[in-house]
Amino acid sequence: MDELDSCACSGGNLPRFVQPVLLGLLVREPMHGYALVQKLEDTGLFGPQPPDMTGCYRMLRDMERSGVLETEYDRGDGPARKKYRVTALGRRCLNRWISSLTSNRDHLDRVLALLLSARDADAQDPCPEADRAFMEEVRRRALSGALPRREDVLRLLSYAPDSAQTAFLGRLARQTAREVAGDRAGVWAAFGVDAAPCSMSCAFCAFGASWGVVRESHEWAQEEIVAAARRYAAEGASWIVLRTTEHYGRERLEALAKAVRAVLPPSCALVANTGQMTVEEIRSLGRAGVQMMYHALRLGEGRDTPFDPAERRQALRRIGEAGMELAHLVEPLGPEHSDEEIADVLLAALEAGAKVCGVMARSNVPGTPYGGAESVSDARLAQVAAVIRLCGGVNTPHVCVHPPVSQAVAWGANVVVVETGAIPRDKKEAAAEWRGFSMDDARALLLRHGYVVGGA
Ligand code: SF4
Repeated sequence: MDELDSCACSGGNLPRFVQPVLLGLLVREPMHGYALVQKLEDTGLFGPQPPDMTGCYRMLRDMERSGVLETEYDRGDGPARKKYRVTALGRRCLNRWISSLTSNRDHLDRVLALLLSARDADAQDPCPEADRAFMEEVRRRALSGALPRREDVLRLLSYAPDSAQTAFLGRLARQTAREVAGDRAGVWAAFGVDAAPCSMSCAFCAFGASWGVVRESHEWAQEEIVAAARRYAAEGASWIVLRTTEHYGRERLEALAKAVRAVLPPSCALVANTGQMTVEEIRSLGRAGVQMMYHALRLGEGRDTPFDPAERRQALRRIGEAGMELAHLVEPLGPEHSDEEIADVLLAALEAGAKVCGVMARSNVPGTPYGGAESVSDARLAQVAAVIRLCGGVNTPHVCVHPPVSQAVAWGANVVVVETGAIPRDKKEAAAEWRGFSMDDARALLLRHGYVVGGA
């Protein structure tokens, strides 16, 4: 136990903003208390812990007393149940929450920026000169186009995420984003086209047939996907990603790709995230309009998955051989992954020429073997993003972080993800943007950190 664990700086006492979230859920549709608590859990705002039922009901009662909610009894089959709805006063309250949270977010960003720059300038705890020189050298090599040395990646990852060295690394990474990407940033808009129980049963995936989380297959209609792609492109997405399972079929994916490509502007790249393919199959997808493939050697490949890591590396090479661009994140990152594992996956991505690289945290989906496990900290996620930015240099203009951790964006990540549809990191599909993170939110986050959004 750390001596600061009970101090306010641990963030343990930060409010969870339950009241505005309840208002936000109920303004979409009136609900019974039980359904509401389920929806509250699905927001992901409570981490692996389910929301406290008693506390939620107490808050609903208080909100009803204050006039922002009203109730009626639903007398359908079974016992009558209370249904909550938002009143006119509640709608005003919701709007005030939006303006208060927006101004608080700006204020928090400014406080964070002040604290970060103060830490960087702290005369008592500066980044040692030897570490500064080392990081400058790693950056110089990466900007000359050289791939990073494994021992250099390991040294960068070995710094504590809250150390002066990592603060310096983050600052250097942000400078690198300025030089390599011209401060341009983009949104990766992904659509999960289908969900189906998958016989591979990777330990971190909600689709794994062995876990029984996703029991039935479901596909989104082509018109829905085309409409979403058109909307995301109009809102400034730089990539539209079609994510399909092995059940969807290559020919259908090609037909879908053609239909989506037809509605996209030239500035918006079409990406396919699907199973392993031969060089000719990848070329055929290219003829259908796909310009980039997402594929990854995952952390724990061969241990948490039944795939042979050597075969995954082959699959990465085939994407390059087919003349297709590659996107490859370091994923799914958990707190237990060693520096060595992270370095090896990162080097696989960079050696395969990933134009979009980055890091994605593991979502510990209840019902999968990782349900209830610890999540990687935002600080570690930001550190890994900064390492990728520094080591990727001129070869990797786009560094992604998922979920969209503000610190990672401050440290050089210039791509964030908005996703809809079937999500292998959740037990339910997302009819709207996953966890409520919209194109507007993505743009606002990138702009707040000084990027120009679009055309990444
Ligand atoms: S990660 Fe892919 S291969 Fe593994 S269980 Fe999920 S859908 Fe199947």
